[in-house]
Amino acid sequence: MASNSGQKSHKIKMMEEQLAKKLTRQVVGSLVGCVHCGMCNECCHYVLTHPDDPKMTPSYKADQLRKLFKRSHDWTGSVIPWWVGADTAPLTDDDLEKLKDISFGTCTNCRRCTINCPMGVDTATLNRMMRGLLSHVGVMPEGVRVVSKDQWEIGNQMGVLKEDYLDTLDWMSEELEEELGHKNAAIPVDKAGAKVAYAINPREVKYDPRTIKKAALIFYAAGEDWTMASAGWDQTNFGLFSGDDNLGGACGKRVYEQVAELGSERLVISECGHGYRSTRHEAVNWSGHPVEFVMESSVFTMLRYIREGRIKVDKSRNKEPVTYHDSCNLARSCGIYEEPRELLSLVVEDFREMTPNRTENFCCTGGGGAMSMSEYTPRRLVSGSIKAKQIADTGATIVATSCHNCVDGLSDVIKHYKLGCRVEQLVDLVANALVLDETERAAAEEAADRVVAEVTRAAESLPLAGRTVLVVDDEDDVREFLTTVFADAGATVIGAAGGDEALAKARAEKPDLISLDLSMPHKDGVETFYELRKTAETEDIPVCIVTGHPEFREVVYERPVPPPEGYLEKPVNESKLVAYAKHIIEAHGRKH
Ligand code: SF4
Ligand code: SF4
Repeated sequence: MASNSGQKSHKIKMMEEQLAKKLTRQVVGSLVGCVHCGMCNECCHYVLTHPDDPKMTPSYKADQLRKLFKRSHDWTGSVIPWWVGADTAPLTDDDLEKLKDISFGTCTNCRRCTINCPMGVDTATLNRMMRGLLSHVGVMPEGVRVVSKDQWEIGNQMGVLKEDYLDTLDWMSEELEEELGHKNAAIPVDKAGAKVAYAINPREVKYDPRTIKKAALIFYAAGEDWTMASAGWDQTNFGLFSGDDNLGGACGKRVYEQVAELGSERLVISECGHGYRSTRHEAVNWSGHPVEFVMESSVFTMLRYIREGRIKVDKSRNKEPVTYHDSCNLARSCGIYEEPRELLSLVVEDFREMTPNRTENFCCTGGGGAMSMSEYTPRRLVSGSIKAKQIADTGATIVATSCHNCVDGLSDVIKHYKLGCRVEQLVDLVANALVLDETERAAAEEAADRVVAEVTRAAESLPLAGRTVLVVDDEDDVREFLTTVFADAGATVIGAAGGDEALAKARAEKPDLISLDLSMPHKDGVETFYELRKTAETEDIPVCIVTGHPEFREVVYERPVPPPEGYLEKPVNESKLVAYAKHIIEAHGRKH
């Protein structure tokens, strides 16, 4: 960082003012308590996978906030600043970019270092606070900005529109009724006075709606009086990740008000580690909103139903070896260790403990909102080698977890390290083990087979099914558009907002095709293309230039490397883009 002999930027001053408002005894204790013993180093998956980089140590990350604190709030910092590092506290807006990289890109707020610190220093809390200060002055990764905006403005972190949410509930209701042959198995929406209100993660609506149906099946089998609200249904909370307590409080309040309006006695929170932690614990403080109903994780609900004999399960229906990944938020931060294991012991035949586990389990790498920050994906995946080894050592074919974030983080690690297993949530395993009336069971199994066959057929018939496309474009809306077009055609899509990120992801992911913009700041598309072609690991990946550059062909041809496999001028036509991409990939495949 710069020496603080110069002028503080306006943003740094704003951060210091904000820091003053956020200091609590717990925070100050962690700010002054570190003796730099280094005992936390071996706890962090970033340190263990980047052993030569001192910037990965938990104390280095927390020291950035410490320096700010020492300069503005600590006597020693004002009298002998060099003694306590206050002379190198962040000063300029350039320093903020470095802080952003440290705070958002090298820590998943997993709290593994926290619980292993002999001085009780809560590094994860300090890191969240640094994120909050940066967010306060508008400095944050683009993904965090987009998700936070959606949660503020649309009411859920994935920007799901109300009609799409309600359509999905209708769709799942229809499937469930068809499977059970019952007209009374539909998902009840806005049922006033229902005993249980069920709140979910928007990821379920967007990517995994059948987890909603499986939960509905379990509620139905238990004879529960339950409902889902048409608003205030998102139990996730990006305020926990961005450090913005105002957003955190607003998200919690929306859910609390909705449950109170329905008059429910109990809020059941679907399987989501950070959503549970935020809704059940943190947002009550952030919002100051009174809560007069019980809040529980659906893990407890499912276990209670079995213990009370309200549902019957048969573990022989889950024969595959299963291991369990403790979500950092659910386990380390909320103390939920034994209930998921008891539940698993009742619904699977072959359970294998992962080592280490419970408090000492390693992060899936997707915590702290990491899945929304694609610029840090290569570093995150390197840190995932620890998790990959943990999983591989169990020999399990199913990694069960109780968190949607972990599903994404683990799936990425499994894919990257080619582990050949899959991730399931407890709701999947409980629903599969559920013993229904024999006729209902036969109808349910037949319908499930039908759905799987339909989904598989539909997926296989997509033109880019099984392909991976790297979309490189600095403009968010263009990148998002291209991503949607390729994803709708069945491709797995990776995004990159600039040349360096594209090169790193191309090397790490080896996509089947790179869609490359030319006009980008810093490293432009021409330079990026040239480097792709000059690098042994990427020289063979086909590239399609997608650009608004008027003389794009000439610009690229000037380079002494083989030309790109394709060119398209913006604005691109969706079907032409897909057809062209398919053609390039297939032609390239025939050549090699
Ligand atoms: S945070 Fe705790 S364990 Fe880590 S260096 Fe500081 S005192 Fe030691
Ligand atoms: S909270 Fe987790 S990721 Fe962050 S420094 Fe500590 S161990 Fe590392």
